[in-house]
Amino acid sequence: MTQTPSKTSQSEALFARARTVTPGGVNSPVRAFKSVGGTPRFIREAHGAYLTDADGTRYIDYIGSWGPMILGHDHPAVREAISDALQYGTSFGAPGEREVQLAELVTRLTGAGKVRFTSSGTEATMSALRLARGFTGRKLIVKFRGNYHGHADGLLVEAGSGLMTNMDGQLGESAPSSAGVPEEYASLTLVSEYNDPAALDTLMAERGTDVAAVIFEPVVGNAGVLIPTPEFLAALHRVQAVGALLIADEVMTGFRLSLNGATGLLGLKPDLTCWGKIIGGGLPVGAYGGRSDVMDFVSPQGPVYQAGTLSGNPLAMAAGLATLRALEADAGIYDGLESYTSQLAGGLKTLAAEAGVPISVNQIGSMLTPFFVDAPHGTVRNYAQAARSDTATFGRWFQELLARGIYWAPSQFESIFVSASHTPTELDATLEAARAAFGSLKTTSLA
Ligand code: PMP
Repeated sequence: MTQTPSKTSQSEALFARARTVTPGGVNSPVRAFKSVGGTPRFIREAHGAYLTDADGTRYIDYIGSWGPMILGHDHPAVREAISDALQYGTSFGAPGEREVQLAELVTRLTGAGKVRFTSSGTEATMSALRLARGFTGRKLIVKFRGNYHGHADGLLVEAGSGLMTNMDGQLGESAPSSAGVPEEYASLTLVSEYNDPAALDTLMAERGTDVAAVIFEPVVGNAGVLIPTPEFLAALHRVQAVGALLIADEVMTGFRLSLNGATGLLGLKPDLTCWGKIIGGGLPVGAYGGRSDVMDFVSPQGPVYQAGTLSGNPLAMAAGLATLRALEADAGIYDGLESYTSQLAGGLKTLAAEAGVPISVNQIGSMLTPFFVDAPHGTVRNYAQAARSDTATFGRWFQELLARGIYWAPSQFESIFVSASHTPTELDATLEAARAAFGSLKTTSLA
């Protein structure tokens, strides 16, 4: 008798093989579905708003490769730009015109004086901090609880993203979020509370003259979505008065919330900015940039060393250029993303209320998190409030959506990312699935 393969048998088989040759079977922790359970789907292909897994199941994708795919997967202009670049070689280890073009475009769109490309967001934040220390001659940095800035040692301190769930209960005052980070490194990172202007003012009054930089997510995605209050943004700008550099980590928000990221949307004036994700259009790129007097401290112009074998890679530059050009060319794109995502937010609130499931939805532009918690005034403001979410219920809801062909972020403490290829058809299908998913939670809790 032949057995009908289960809907996930290919993914299960790949996951089993992967676990024998790769730690946890994945190359980035959240992909393993550890906090939601079940089999991570191994993805075979992605087009537009859809992913297809190894078993041939199609999903409406709300991850967008964790942010880069703002135009949707396999966008024709991006594909064409990559195949065009491909004809001329894949890596030179010497400068080329595309790096100049992308740097010109990024500086024009963001107002940064100069920009340096890296191959990941982690390298961008790590390098920006070294630069801030080199420029100011100071050692300390300040970050915020639940913000994630990549996995450089000094930044894995009270960090968000995969660490919010994988390191359950191990977060402490200025404590490393990961094994292998020496306490001596962690002690150079001071931690303050997001959206708490008084706490930041106090910290800066006490230690500010030793602080090289304050790094922050201008809209947080990595504790789930947290939106800054105007009072907090004002306190962030006050750190510049004591000579600390303000570093906006726009790896997630850059070119997502506007052509000039959260900086443009919220009127921020950072000294340095970090980018990643969209700037590479789905290929590995990061960047940091900002004030020219500061950037001129970077080697070979200045004394702060930073380098990369594949930095400025021609295929990656081509994908980034095509993506940013497409965003700039479509005047209505950000309004369209906002409209889709706010309808999704409204729909989720209504459906959860109908099912009697307490949730608080934070949404801005094409970023959204439904926290399974009853927050004050329906808005989660900081790490502590986010951490009170009912992750078990979120996990069940996630599985119910997945079973209905909706690929949501597999963790309570992440943003989803809507793309320009999501249309009313996908919105309706998503809300229909969400109605059933909330309904099934009700059934479970009554049982
Ligand atoms: N900063 C922020 C705000 C991020 O969201 C991320 C990745 N999610 C990073 C830095 C690190 O980027 P990468 O994963 O490309 O190293």
